[in-house]
Amino acid sequence: MDQTQIDALRAQPVPAFSHLIEGKHVAASDGGTMDIVSPIDGQVFTTTAKGTVADMQAAITSARAAFENGRWAGQSPAARKKVLMKWADLIEANALELAVLGVRDNGTEINMAIKAEPGSAAGTIRYYAEALDKIYGEIAPTSSDVLGMIHKEPVGVVGAIIPWNFPMMIGAWKLGPALAMGNSVVLKPAETASLSLMRMCDLAHDAGLPAGVLNAVTGEGAVVGEAMGLSMDIDVLVFTGSGGTGRRLMEYAARSNMKRVYLELGGKSPNIIFADTPNLDEAAKVAAGGIFRNAGQVCVAGSRLLVEATIHDDFVAAVAKATSMMRVGDPLDMSTAIGAVNSEVQLKQNLGFVDTAVSEGGEIVLGGQRILQETGGYYMAPTIVTGVTPEATLTQKEVFGPVLGVTPFTTDDEAVRIANATVYGLAGAVWTSNLSRAHRMVRSVRTGVMHVNTYGGADGTVPLGGVGQSGNGSDKSLHAIEKYINLKTAWIKL
Ligand code: NAD
Repeated sequence: MDQTQIDALRAQPVPAFSHLIEGKHVAASDGGTMDIVSPIDGQVFTTTAKGTVADMQAAITSARAAFENGRWAGQSPAARKKVLMKWADLIEANALELAVLGVRDNGTEINMAIKAEPGSAAGTIRYYAEALDKIYGEIAPTSSDVLGMIHKEPVGVVGAIIPWNFPMMIGAWKLGPALAMGNSVVLKPAETASLSLMRMCDLAHDAGLPAGVLNAVTGEGAVVGEAMGLSMDIDVLVFTGSGGTGRRLMEYAARSNMKRVYLELGGKSPNIIFADTPNLDEAAKVAAGGIFRNAGQVCVAGSRLLVEATIHDDFVAAVAKATSMMRVGDPLDMSTAIGAVNSEVQLKQNLGFVDTAVSEGGEIVLGGQRILQETGGYYMAPTIVTGVTPEATLTQKEVFGPVLGVTPFTTDDEAVRIANATVYGLAGAVWTSNLSRAHRMVRSVRTGVMHVNTYGGADGTVPLGGVGQSGNGSDKSLHAIEKYINLKTAWIKL
């Protein structure tokens, strides 16, 4: 990747996008479209289909028919594997084009996007492609006059609803295991970041995925997402996004066919720094990256910094210094470390959280304001607020933006108490040179993932899922497959 290639791709006009149903691009049934605004400059650069309830129903009907006639589920594991491996290759072959398209759509800095989006998506698809012919059924330990067999069957039609922060990566976390196990999928990308994921779905068809096995419908969550949630023909709903939408999806399931619902929701992840941290400067740099990458729009972002009181001032100064070295700006410039906020709505929301933090007694030590307004884009200075109490809004509510709240603590028990003082439980970290303390903290802080002496970067071999109101079920690793299969018992009298 070099800057010239990126600039050439960014100069290309982007044609209008439409749904992908039964292997074909189709417009919305009423002809509706949505403008796609780039957070880089606030300009409309293309449109997508604005889906209707009828569009979603057509996509689900197509996926159901594809599943029932076995055109994918009925293929041999080896045949499915071949298609998925080819798909991963095509994603890699088109990585830069996909990454630049995605950045124009959602504002993630290109250095991160190239790895986290096409790079990670290809790796995920390949991981599940490689796994799919190594997953065996079971023979139960019965008495000798019977045979108890446990089959692992695809669930049928999976509905997948995706957020805007990492559409390809999170899309692949759902699509990889769902398709590997022989399911059909209907995908609903986010309004403000659908393009790269839609292109990725096209590539699946280029790789040989049969028509109807993967359909994708763009549009508003409250219209097409709701229609998916209420459908009697979706067997499993998998979702990444906000807690409010997650709650609605559970209601939709209860009001319709009681489909299984798996939620990956938000977080308010504590990054806990003890005075005995081996390298405090390194910890400060990682803490800054752990919250400010992708302008803080990362579900596992370390948005709460819990610092042992004896080192509080020095450590906050070190994080502020490390943050000041991170250049904020055009996400398609390779020297940018922090890109754009995804939308104007999100930017206003972030700034509102900063105002609230100050009104509750917090002190801004860095940032706090919109910047680069002359570009027309949505940029925010990375913001550090000290004096944030465990009860404060900045502790209790997810911002999903570049805002770090700092809270001091004095004992291990107090650190655990503050860390666990929210409804969330997605991620966290502890920094210490004391091995026993590290293990105690890993056990005591209620999250799906705890880092020790690092933040972020957990690869696809380990699960990612939340506890509490951060969700249920896991993406990534072989454990994710459990969401996309039914166990069926065959009890045979011999
Ligand atoms: P969101 O809930 O507003 O939207 C997510 C998706 O849900 C979008 O595709 C949207 O169109 C759809 N949607 C919205 N309303 C709907 C409805 N009524 N019915 C069905 N679908 C609907 O969330 P967002 O703002 O796009 O994403 C940010 C949130 O996602 C943050 O809270 C963040 O922490 C969370 N997130 C979590 C993870 C994780 O792995 N746990 C990863 C990334 C983001």
